[in-house]
Amino acid sequence: MEHKNAIKGSEFIVKETLPEEIFIPEEFDEEAKMIAQTCQDFLDTEVMPNLDRIDAHEEGLMPAILKKAGELGLLGISIPEEYGGFGQNFTTSMLVADILGAGYSFSVAYSADTGIGTLPIMYYGNEEQKQKYLPGLATGELLGAYCLTEPGAGSDANSGKTKAVLNEAGTHYILNGSKMWITNGGFADVLTVFAKIDDDRILSAFIVERNFPGITFGAEENKMGIKGSSTVQIFFNDCEVPVENLLGNRGDGFRIALNILNLGRIKLGANVIGSSKLAINQSVQYANERKQFRTLIANFPAIKYKLAQQVIKAFANETAVYRMSKNVDDAVKRNIADGMDKGTANVEAQREFVVEAALIKVFGSEMLDYVVDEGVQIHGGMGFSAETAIERGYRDSRINRIFEGTNEINRNVTGDTLIKKGLKGEIPLFEEAAKVVAGIDKFTGKPDFSGNYFEDVKLTVNNFKKVFLLLVDAAHKKFGKKLSREQEIIFNFADIIMQSYVAESLYLRVNRLQTLKGEEAGKIYKDILDVYLFDSANIVYNQGIEAIYSFIGENEQDKYIEALRYLTKVKPANIKEARRRIADKLIDDNKYQF
Ligand SMILES: Cc1cc2nc3c(=O)[nH]c(=O)nc-3n(C[C@H](O)[C@H](O)[C@H](O)COP(=O)(O)OP(=O)(O)OC[C@H]3O[C@@H](n4cnc5c(N)ncnc54)[C@H](O)[C@@H]3O)c2cc1C
Repeated sequence: MEHKNAIKGSEFIVKETLPEEIFIPEEFDEEAKMIAQTCQDFLDTEVMPNLDRIDAHEEGLMPAILKKAGELGLLGISIPEEYGGFGQNFTTSMLVADILGAGYSFSVAYSADTGIGTLPIMYYGNEEQKQKYLPGLATGELLGAYCLTEPGAGSDANSGKTKAVLNEAGTHYILNGSKMWITNGGFADVLTVFAKIDDDRILSAFIVERNFPGITFGAEENKMGIKGSSTVQIFFNDCEVPVENLLGNRGDGFRIALNILNLGRIKLGANVIGSSKLAINQSVQYANERKQFRTLIANFPAIKYKLAQQVIKAFANETAVYRMSKNVDDAVKRNIADGMDKGTANVEAQREFVVEAALIKVFGSEMLDYVVDEGVQIHGGMGFSAETAIERGYRDSRINRIFEGTNEINRNVTGDTLIKKGLKGEIPLFEEAAKVVAGIDKFTGKPDFSGNYFEDVKLTVNNFKKVFLLLVDAAHKKFGKKLSREQEIIFNFADIIMQSYVAESLYLRVNRLQTLKGEEAGKIYKDILDVYLFDSANIVYNQGIEAIYSFIGENEQDKYIEALRYLTKVKPANIKEARRRIADKLIDDNKYQF
């Protein structure tokens, strides 16, 4: 379905979306479903039976599995056909990331190879570079890695010290320095390495081959989780890189690095869909087998609560991810129609959705941590045993809050970038905020719920957005340009923005599902929505009250608190029963089937 009125990046905070304007995973066509099945079959046959061997770093195993994925075409999903790939759209590549996301360490290796390892060349390479490397990356003949982080330069990625100097003959850049935490570094053939030329302030990017002179690789890191994923330090000692391997122009590196990371964040949102569903399946299957007090633990309301919350959060994350994926695809088409070449059209589309990507990364990684944590709890002592799969899931989940930009960096991006987009006039943020502020006196008592279910939900979702609009106006007036430095407030805002986006996405999907599946089958989704909105309203309230106390003057606090209470009221629903119904469906199905 083509969405002509597709929303632009960050606009959601000031603009409503209609249910028919979003893409939902139920809409995947037969071709996409076949690709998903191929991925599932691959996981089942090549990855899942080998998890222990993978985690033990059996020599050559991970690259061999990646190469098999390449033979099946799974490494070339996004690579254009002219370079030997399948040229699938962004949404389909997210579906692949979703399914393969359940593959523990393999999933990390796959994402690094096809994402940050391949995309710099695909989006920023010149024709020669693309011809030289992409066909090999598409088939798995070549495997990729991305080398940005250094011992002294993590979140502050542009502060790296790796240096590139042109040799006297003008034929090679000579690289000196080191990189650390490089995923796939133990075997990757092609590395995108970021370094500063001479005394430049800004990074440049280079395509470095494994066998170039002067490059050496450290030992595998011993990690808390994703143990089977290769992570090494890389050293450059007068490493000779031919001048034609400069990627983009001198000084383009930081922009390339950030744009590629942005994409990695979106993909991470998709990865955690697969891993969360797997952990939910493990949880419910255990709960359906384990007896205590002569009853299955699945019968205990406390366990049902956990199972239901796992489902609700995973379902919400999936909804937001696919909504945004299609928005990105629509933006790519729009950019191409406006005359951009394919590569630029893709990069610009992903850049446009930088706020959504950041909030999805935070939401998805914290969702998965919740799901695996409660998964361990449902398993009781067995959850702590290295014999059970959930233990691996728990350890492997933790990294998601750290890489692809830590969640602190991504909360900053969510709040701060959205505000900056408003200040630059890219979205009418402060105009809409002024309207909300002008109406603050009306926010007393409780909203006029109409009795129409979806109208009332829409009202609630829009009210979450109004909390942010109300507070951002006041914060901007108080702090002006210094607001960026008030990270606690930016984080309060980030969480309110994140809840607004996810709650709205969920409302839109559940509304669509009523039409698609009918009233009766749609009921369970209304339960999911009811509980989500209730939880979400509490988060928005808590973040809002913290922000109010931290910067609204005492004489105005009561007015703001009254407005906050009003704007976070949800129509009452029996969420205890709703959670039980969600858990009961999961328990009956004995797997995630929502
Ligand atoms: C298993 C693994 C695989 C990885 N793979 C790759 C890879 O393939 N390629 C690659 O280039 N890198 C990779 N990384 C590196 C990863 O991206 C970094 O670890 C991450 O960006 C954080 O950097 P850091 O570890 O230096 O932490 P730091 O930047 O030192 O952060 C420490 C703490 O300070 C916080 N902090 C830092 N700056 C700010 C700020 N401005 N405001 C608020 N809080 C802040 C952070 O959120 C964090 O909590 C990988 C890391 C790991 C662990």
